[in-house]
Amino acid sequence: MHKRICLNMALLAAAGLVLVSVALCLVFYHQFSATVRADLKARAALFQDIPSGQAIAAISASNPVDMRFSLIAADGTVLYDSTVSARSLPSHADRVEIRQALSADFGESKRYSSTLREETCYYAVRLPDGAILRTAKTSSSIFALFECALPVVAAVVLAVIGISYALAGRLTRRIVEPINRVRLDGEAIPPYDELAPFIRAIQVQRERITAQFTALREQTDTIRAIMDNMNEGAVLVGARGRILSANKSALRIFGSGHAQGKNILELMRDPPLVEHTRGALAGRRAEAEMERQGRVYHVYFSPVAGRGAVLLFLDTTESRKAERLRREFSANVSHELKTPLTSISGYAEMLVNGMVREADQAGFLAKIRDESARLLALIEDILLLARLDAEKAKSAFSEVDLAEIATEAAASLAARAAAAGVSVRVRDKGKKFPVRANRSLMAELFANLLDNAIKYNRPGGTVELDFSREEGRTALSVRDSGIGIPPEDRDRVFERFYRVDRSRSKATGGTGLGLAIVKHIALLHQAEVTLESREGEGTRVLVRFAAER
Ligand code: ADP
Repeated sequence: MHKRICLNMALLAAAGLVLVSVALCLVFYHQFSATVRADLKARAALFQDIPSGQAIAAISASNPVDMRFSLIAADGTVLYDSTVSARSLPSHADRVEIRQALSADFGESKRYSSTLREETCYYAVRLPDGAILRTAKTSSSIFALFECALPVVAAVVLAVIGISYALAGRLTRRIVEPINRVRLDGEAIPPYDELAPFIRAIQVQRERITAQFTALREQTDTIRAIMDNMNEGAVLVGARGRILSANKSALRIFGSGHAQGKNILELMRDPPLVEHTRGALAGRRAEAEMERQGRVYHVYFSPVAGRGAVLLFLDTTESRKAERLRREFSANVSHELKTPLTSISGYAEMLVNGMVREADQAGFLAKIRDESARLLALIEDILLLARLDAEKAKSAFSEVDLAEIATEAAASLAARAAAAGVSVRVRDKGKKFPVRANRSLMAELFANLLDNAIKYNRPGGTVELDFSREEGRTALSVRDSGIGIPPEDRDRVFERFYRVDRSRSKATGGTGLGLAIVKHIALLHQAEVTLESREGEGTRVLVRFAAER
């Protein structure tokens, strides 16, 4: 802008100067021409009223040097000329001023030299005897005047261009500087009143853009945050399969640190997935299963109207595992229920058919009673597990004292412990160990742990129950001096229906669900269960509750 203003100003000044020069030349020339004409007319007027013979004598006597005098007869013959011999001149009948003077009383004209550098003005008057007296003066023409003025004008124009360029530079700097200093972020003070509406408009626009930009960024941040915190992998693919965006979960699934810009088909090469991806880009929805790094994903391929596709990866590993466990559990339940029922129906059948001797009948009935009790215990445990699965127990949480519940559980199992020759001791009796828990589930947890500690013990063995509280975490421990658990079974004893020694478990009325129930109850209370055991020495189960807030 600075350069343009300088150039324009310089050109304007130069054009002005040229125009002024031309106008001056014209005015000057016009003035000069008028003077010459007046001069010619005044000199001719001196001889206008005398006959041609006397006029020639008078003119010769005045010896004119600044002007040319000619006397021409009415037929055009040159009778006298003050500068050249009249005889050498041709007829002047065709000259404009002569013809005018012949028809009117005077005539005048102007003629240029062949180079246009000079011009001659003529003035002619008719004398009383009909001859024509003509005065003429040659001077520089307007063109010669221009030619003369040109070098001077050019020099001045160049100087003016230079000066105006420099001045325009300073001027524009002075005008522009305050504009450059205007700060649009705060309260802008317009340097010129004329700029006030313009600056206001810029500010309004600026505020609008900032607001839109902030809203846009917030929106993008929200979408990014949602995408990155999603457990599901999400990939946005462009029309040609190029990955436009992929969230953290998707990058984790593909084991890639960076996916943007890559083609989705580089990351998913399995033929059905490639086909579904192409299908989605062509506008067709699809779903498929995919396996990556030992995990199973359910993939949704959804087209995005003409712009590409969205691929959503749902990790179904856990739900599939849960489904498998549920299936196995159902099969196990059927099997576990079938065994005592088969025994019961077998014994009953034999009794009905009179196949049992009278002396043995009581034994058979006792077996039926024991198997029924086992069946009942099994059903109760299954129902409890189902209840725990449904997490219904959560609603009945309250502040309970672990030591109190443990003492009650130990008391209710006292008879069984005595029968097994095992002594049960609750340490820290009288002390309180409060936790937020479901009371009946806690009683169930103690009952199961104590029951195991008694069952898998030896005569004369001990069971010790104690509590601790460290860093806000309450823990309970059930330690026995029993048979212990082999190392390879320690992790599996918490599985449903898993028993180390089937016959011993069955013989003692075990269902194989006790520890599964314990683990479930602990999970509901956000407690962790750990098991330590030494074969032949004993087992210790530790339940640690989460820190109280
Ligand atoms: P069960 O009803 O058979 O006792 P559990 O789920 O309570 O079922 O226990 C699973 C298996 O773990 C038991 O069959 C038993 O072999 C073993 N077990 C549990 N507790 C103890 C313990 N205190 N000492 C030794 N073995 C144990």
